[in-house]
Amino acid sequence: MTDVIVVGGGPAGLSAALFTQKNGLETTVFDTDQTWMHKAHLFNYLGLGSEDGTAFMATARRQVESYGVDLRQGEEVTDVAEGDDGGFTVETEDETFESDYVVLATGANRDLATSLGVAFDGDVVDVDITMETSVDDAYATGAMGRAEEWQAVISAGDGAAAALNILTKEKGEHYHDFDVPADADAAFGGMADDE
Ligand SMILES: Cc1cc2nc3c(=O)[nH]c(=O)nc-3n(C[C@H](O)[C@H](O)[C@H](O)COP(=O)(O)OP(=O)(O)OC[C@H]3O[C@@H](n4cnc5c(N)ncnc54)[C@H](O)[C@@H]3O)c2cc1C
Repeated sequence: MTDVIVVGGGPAGLSAALFTQKNGLETTVFDTDQTWMHKAHLFNYLGLGSEDGTAFMATARRQVESYGVDLRQGEEVTDVAEGDDGGFTVETEDETFESDYVVLATGANRDLATSLGVAFDGDVVDVDITMETSVDDAYATGAMGRAEEWQAVISAGDGAAAALNILTKEKGEHYHDFDVPADADAAFGGMADDE
């Protein structure tokens, strides 16, 4: 049993995982590494002048792992369902996992949203501004809920929005993940030396 399971390890999924794990929720990410970022070169991600998509993903993976995210690279999720006593069951070929929350971040592939039974708006998953679906505690991010706005920075924002909503539910009050310059060394987990 873990707090949060994220399905998909592109910008949306890893952004969600970064926020939840960094703020105390045990988070597992499953990813089959078919992210579109391997085809992209970023000139439009604010704060990055020019960045190869694969290099961006390598940094993102190191960043989430530095906070302790259980990143299961190469493991495909085959089914997601609501649990009998709340929460969710998440199946891979070999194992079944359970979590309180699930964040779907599988890009334009919406099959798991269909099998979970969330509402759609036409071809896309119907989400609110926090990326929560019609099923409580299940979120859908990035292209899953967007017909056209397929951009890395938007996916990362969607993942962050989902995570902050989860954190708000868990903490019982509106949650902000704010750090200040004095936190930099500790918060960056030693990565700053490598960048
Ligand atoms: C040619 C090209 C150029 C682009 N150029 C730019 C650009 O210049 N700037 C920009 O902002 N964006 C660009 N993009 C778009 C950008 O890559 C996407 O917006 C971004 O990758 C979407 O992130 P995501 O996390 O929503 O989905 P994705 O990055 O698609 O990640 C989804 C992940 O989920 C995994 N997955 C799917 N199903 C499962 C499952 N069942 N179990 C486990 N894992 C699963 C996939 O393997 C994948 O790794 C480009 C895209 C393409 C194709």
